[in-house]
Amino acid sequence: MRIERTFLSQGDVVRVGGTEFAVDRMAVAPEVVEAAGETSAADEVAPARKGRPAWRGSFERVLRDLPPKNAPGDEFVIVSSAGKESDALQGKGEGPPALLLILQIAARARATDVHVEPKGSSTSVRMRVDGQMVTIGELPDRVGMLVVGMVKAACNMKAAAADQVQEGHFSSRLKPAVDGAAAAEVGPARQIDYRVSMTPSVHGQKMVVRVLDLLTAPSTLSGLGLPGWMEQRVRRVCRQDQGLLLVCGPTGSGKTTTLYNALREVDREAKNVVTIEDPVEYRLEQTTQIPIDEQRGNTFGGLLRSVLRQDPDVILVGEIRDEETASTAMRAAMTGHVVFTTVHAKDTIAAVFRLLDLKVEPYLIASALDVVLAQRLVRVLCEHCRTGVRVPPGVATRLGRFVEGKSELMAPVGCPRCLGTGFRGRRAIFELLDFTDELRDVILKDPSIQAMKKIVEGGLFATLTQSGWKLVGEGSTSLNEVDRVAGS
Ligand SMILES: [Zn+2]
Repeated sequence: MRIERTFLSQGDVVRVGGTEFAVDRMAVAPEVVEAAGETSAADEVAPARKGRPAWRGSFERVLRDLPPKNAPGDEFVIVSSAGKESDALQGKGEGPPALLLILQIAARARATDVHVEPKGSSTSVRMRVDGQMVTIGELPDRVGMLVVGMVKAACNMKAAAADQVQEGHFSSRLKPAVDGAAAAEVGPARQIDYRVSMTPSVHGQKMVVRVLDLLTAPSTLSGLGLPGWMEQRVRRVCRQDQGLLLVCGPTGSGKTTTLYNALREVDREAKNVVTIEDPVEYRLEQTTQIPIDEQRGNTFGGLLRSVLRQDPDVILVGEIRDEETASTAMRAAMTGHVVFTTVHAKDTIAAVFRLLDLKVEPYLIASALDVVLAQRLVRVLCEHCRTGVRVPPGVATRLGRFVEGKSELMAPVGCPRCLGTGFRGRRAIFELLDFTDELRDVILKDPSIQAMKKIVEGGLFATLTQSGWKLVGEGSTSLNEVDRVAGS
């Protein structure tokens, strides 16, 4: 019989045959304490207090187990969409502590989205962490409704419209409750923005909150984890007077983060830097940031033409989606501008073909492009619970030099610190295509995959998968994770 290993919380019910076991008072098994590297946590776990709802104990436990372990929750103040601070989180009843715990857990877990969804019997709270959905816990429906009501008030939404699609936003100010070494896990005092969307579902309104916490973004080019030679090559483009850096990968692969870190390499005091984006995700001082607005006719192509009349030095074009934007961006990169942009393509060679598909003239591609970067985000194994497994013979053959001399690879396990996922944090893997004279020649004369591959393999080149295997060899991630994101 298949048995799933999971961590129980107060209020959970385990059914075995016809018998139900309710988890009343939490005791921590010695092996769990050992795995988490603690001496004894059993006596720190507060027994159930009389009159205290069960959901609260279970959410508090999730928060307490996140690093820094056993630290108190951070202080939060809600700032409404109108910019007014509110003391709603200090209010009475079950709503305020529920929303506070959700915001605290989201910030500590570095969640990018919070899902609050009525299921009929209870309301589930899930979060997207490192790209994966993780269940945080269940709230009684009435508490779920209180939380949704508080968020609606913060967004200044109409409270009654439960059968409608609604959108809004609000912010919070976070003051960390810890200092010293533990503060590194929590980050500095800051503002966190939330974009809220409500949709009617069969059991009531489902709320999804996108968390925009700038803490989670690396802030320098070297923080991205590019191998040395790739970093130097990208940095060179940033310092040029003209040229084009193209980043490719699917949605959510960290392309915008990479471009913003490249922008930080530019002397923005001495240069006119403009970005055109859909939407603007990061704020960067000394930069003119323009959101596109298709309904008003402000498209990538239209805005780019207008920006080119405003004497720019460096232009970030959020995405190339059409022929006009592609050709205009390429021409700009040949006439005294540095252009940073992205395209939807699976790898660097596919990105070149994507531009050819958009009917960009081969001579424009050959002359304008300097560097094409493909990237993906792989999850990093949780260092508290990862475990060594024997390298299967097939894997040793497949990964070759990346696992040479190693008898073990690391695999995920799952512990409270990583919300049971086995992973904590993500890092990017890259593939860089350098536009050498040889490659430009091939694009002009014979732009075929075979011809390009031949040139590329003769030089300094690592595929996305090989960059992932390097991390597997170092024990930072698992082979399954690399196969999942880089697929070979
Ligand atoms: Zn873990």
